[in-house]
Amino acid sequence: MCIFCKIVNKEIPNKTVLEDDDFLCFYDINPSRKLHVLVIPKEHYDSFDVIPPKIMSDMTSFIHKVVSKLGIKEDGYRLITNIGKDGGQEVPHLHFHILAGEYVGPLVSK
Ligand code: AMP
Repeated sequence: MCIFCKIVNKEIPNKTVLEDDDFLCFYDINPSRKLHVLVIPKEHYDSFDVIPPKIMSDMTSFIHKVVSKLGIKEDGYRLITNIGKDGGQEVPHLHFHILAGEYVGPLVSK
């Protein structure tokens, strides 16, 4: 079982921001910005690449609720999902990073 499935099953603790029947948002254990949370579907999908569009649509609504709860809508945020080896994905369970709380900086070009 992957680490995020263990979080969903409460085998590993997490600091929850928001939860419903299908999705969970929790604080990243190793924040890369002042505010860094992760949003996951409770059902396991390896990455964005395989998520059914209907679930992605529901997840979009959930992310909007997270943004509202965190109070970051006005100042903005960065929403990222890494996919596979070249995308830099470490945990093979679809997750969106929300980075906020400060200017997160430009996407650096090579
Ligand atoms: P990625 O590289 O896109 O797969 O990102 C994985 C993220 O999961 C990293 O930012 C990690 O810090 C985070 N992470 C790994 N284990 C945990 C955990 N137990 N609780 C919270 N965040 C975690």
